[in-house]
Amino acid sequence: MTRRYSAFAIAREALREHTGWGRAWAKRPPKDRYDVVIVGAGGHGLATAYYLGKNFGITNVAIVEKGWLGGGNTGRNTTIIRSNYLQDPSAAIYEKARSLYETLSQDLNYNVMFSPRGVMMLAQTHHEVRGYQRTAHANALQGVRTEWIGPERVKELCPIMNIHGPRYPVLGALWQARGGTARHDAVAWGYARACTEMGMDIVQKCEVTGVRTEGGKVVGVDTTQGAIGCDRLGIVVAGHSSVLAEQAGFRLPLESVPLQALVSEPIKPCMDVVVMANTVHGYMSQSDKGEMVIGGGTDGYNGYTQRGSFQHIEETLRALVETFPMISRLKMLRQWGGIVDVTGDRSPILSKTPVDGVFVNCGWGTGGFKAIPGSGWGMAELMAKGHSPLTEAFGMERFREGRFIDESVAAGVAH
Ligand SMILES: Cc1cc2nc3c(=O)[nH]c(=O)nc-3n(C[C@H](O)[C@H](O)[C@H](O)COP(=O)(O)OP(=O)(O)OC[C@H]3O[C@@H](n4cnc5c(N)ncnc54)[C@H](O)[C@@H]3O)c2cc1C
Repeated sequence: MTRRYSAFAIAREALREHTGWGRAWAKRPPKDRYDVVIVGAGGHGLATAYYLGKNFGITNVAIVEKGWLGGGNTGRNTTIIRSNYLQDPSAAIYEKARSLYETLSQDLNYNVMFSPRGVMMLAQTHHEVRGYQRTAHANALQGVRTEWIGPERVKELCPIMNIHGPRYPVLGALWQARGGTARHDAVAWGYARACTEMGMDIVQKCEVTGVRTEGGKVVGVDTTQGAIGCDRLGIVVAGHSSVLAEQAGFRLPLESVPLQALVSEPIKPCMDVVVMANTVHGYMSQSDKGEMVIGGGTDGYNGYTQRGSFQHIEETLRALVETFPMISRLKMLRQWGGIVDVTGDRSPILSKTPVDGVFVNCGWGTGGFKAIPGSGWGMAELMAKGHSPLTEAFGMERFREGRFIDESVAAGVAH
């Protein structure tokens, strides 16, 4: 049993040398059977399990993870949170997620360090100016609070920026004041702890190797820790979604590509907003430790390697140095990569599948961290009730029917 975190608990534990804290989540071998098995203990899988328990009372749930929880893209991303998308279904799910982030620490009793410091998407071509002004109008109609700001306001919010760059001067930005960042590991850990508290099993180092079906309906999975029976199966494995779908006997319209990021050596606070520069393919924020957190676009080829190509780092930094000349003097501290699952319309898939009882949550591409609470909320409703207003438009049949939710401007490179 985990203990509630509070100022009182900290004081109590300080007096007894911290011997009374329970484990944040239990390590247990899997049972033979569950009502629901979720494959993938990333943010989306854990959030799905959490809201299944919290909103629908379904707690006989196992979350099965081949590595360690939060060790996939959830623990490798640059943590940008925003909801300034163009299309209505996207705005709905991303804004649901952003609004849940506002109180997630209290809800989970775990500090996820949500920091609504503001996110700006720079317009550095006239085409982008028109695109972002259009998004600002769309957001106003959707009830998402964003605004178009001019170059002077951009400079005021981010003084280290050179707005008169030689190739791409800053012409303005789409600004979302309540966008920001959160601590990625803490989001996974917070959900994991809350799932454990509800009696769910998180089974780590357990790879799903096959999906068992009978008469077109799921009956369980084969894993490296034996077979596990279930009535409903949620496949929530990001870059490995096509692999799991193949095991279940259907195909997904996805490409898996490496995406990487890097951090500089830590420096004094110099930037308290998140800046994305989509024309030049780079974005940057400053972590609480002082590192400049930098990312760019995906590699130009498909792959399952959890690292990116060197030329992409060069390209990203070359581009960002124009807008942020001061970073030319920084040393790179660390670089890493993840495998992201990208759809043709750059929108996710939250869907039933051709196999009865199997559901997929994938296709978040380069930008799914921000969506974790909203995605979990909608996916849980879909799995519990068979439909959800949040996920309705994101069914996989949209690719066959030509009903794309085109977010290539909002999500193509951006995060
Ligand atoms: C470098 C980088 C930067 C990013 N920046 C941002 C950003 O700033 N903002 C943003 O919103 N998003 C960002 N993203 C995207 C975001 O990280 C992902 O969309 C999100 O984390 C996906 O979460 P998930 O839970 O679906 O997947 P993951 O966190 O990848 O979890 C899936 C899990 O499934 C497990 N798994 C796979 N196969 C199996 C199997 N057979 N059996 C059992 N388990 C299995 C994996 O080990 C993994 O832990 C970034 C991604 C990367 C790589």
